[in-house]
Amino acid sequence: MTERRVLVIGSGIIGASIAWHLAKAGAQVTVLDASDTGGLATRNSWAWINASWGNPEPYFRLRQRAMQEWRKIDRHVPGLAVNWCGGLTWDLEPEKLEAYGRGHAAWGYGIRRVEPDEIRRLEPTLKKVPDFALHVPEEGVVEPLAAARAILAGAEALGAEVVPHARVKWLNGNDTRIIGATTDEGTFHADETIVAAGAGSQQLLNSVGHTLKLTAPAGLLAHSKPAAELLRGLLMTPGLHVRQTAEGRLVAGTDFAGSDPLDDPEASAAALITGVRELIAGGEGLELDFHSIGYRPTPADGFPAIGRPGNRDGLYVAVTHSGVTLAPALGLFAAQELLNGQRDPLLSPYHPDRPELA
Ligand SMILES: Cc1cc2nc3c(=O)[nH]c(=O)nc-3n(C[C@H](O)[C@H](O)[C@H](O)COP(=O)(O)OP(=O)(O)OC[C@H]3O[C@@H](n4cnc5c(N)ncnc54)[C@H](O)[C@@H]3O)c2cc1C
Repeated sequence: MTERRVLVIGSGIIGASIAWHLAKAGAQVTVLDASDTGGLATRNSWAWINASWGNPEPYFRLRQRAMQEWRKIDRHVPGLAVNWCGGLTWDLEPEKLEAYGRGHAAWGYGIRRVEPDEIRRLEPTLKKVPDFALHVPEEGVVEPLAAARAILAGAEALGAEVVPHARVKWLNGNDTRIIGATTDEGTFHADETIVAAGAGSQQLLNSVGHTLKLTAPAGLLAHSKPAAELLRGLLMTPGLHVRQTAEGRLVAGTDFAGSDPLDDPEASAAALITGVRELIAGGEGLELDFHSIGYRPTPADGFPAIGRPGNRDGLYVAVTHSGVTLAPALGLFAAQELLNGQRDPLLSPYHPDRPELA
């Protein structure tokens, strides 16, 4: 069964991970992407790997498992270089922050309350420290485009073929079975066709009569020019989330998912960098280099959509927000379901046919 021909549509972090896990399991994998490789939402992501606030417990469990899978894939894929730098959070009102810390600690998250002295030790450049914060040493970050491309290269090393600039116009098949896809260049036949096309997934599923209600809200991030090391980990402060990239840029949004670009995105980005200058000692000379605007593929109820739409043979979909966090687990689980017919119990709430997405 593992020699099945699989077509993966989309080479963002989700398609890349699915392709890698399938190739590793022995499938014949072809990845198609309408544009350059590495994804659209992916390249504009803040890329925080976490199982942080606002989670119902089943979703927390999935995210926590995904964090473990990042550690595994990090050992197998050359050049992935996940930065397990930890995250420091105080962007909630004190009672909510405490409740989040207590709740997640009870679920087994490595989260702990830290007092001002320790906050200063963790991030010595903070100009003002809060009365308390929550610290999660096991949270991490990747440089998202580089990570997606490293995983794709890993899949290619395992025999996968990656085809950029191949836009899928529609899926092929009938009411019972999907047998591949048609691009501007021609038709690709496959035993399994996986739609991992981010915000483009809806249109592809529509082409064979499936509905998947998605939104794609815009998120703006400001990127400074590279600077000397100013931050050790990820900072989630009220109205400003900021991290420093491997090349030294400070990347900031009002929220990790990006700010509303508003009418003047460049002015919004400049205001974010001003906020970073006010937050970090040594950051006074920071200059805005550019801003990015990404569109987060988000199933209508905010949770992943992964599985066989309409239980149709030969067709599978994987679309989600928090895709950087979730990619290694979703890739593993998709490969297991496609090749062995085993659906991981952690995916139970996330079938694409649930009524919320109709
Ligand atoms: C500003 C911002 C901040 C974020 N922060 C975080 C965060 O901190 N942590 C986190 O976990 N997640 C975060 N996310 C979400 C995360 O980035 C996304 O969930 C993830 O990147 C989605 O990956 P994907 O592979 O599904 O989609 P994409 O990266 O969009 O890739 C989909 C690919 O499919 C291709 N495609 C589309 N249609 C077709 C077609 N017809 N034919 C062929 N190819 C096609 C596209 O060209 C694209 O390359 C953030 C997102 C944004 C925008």
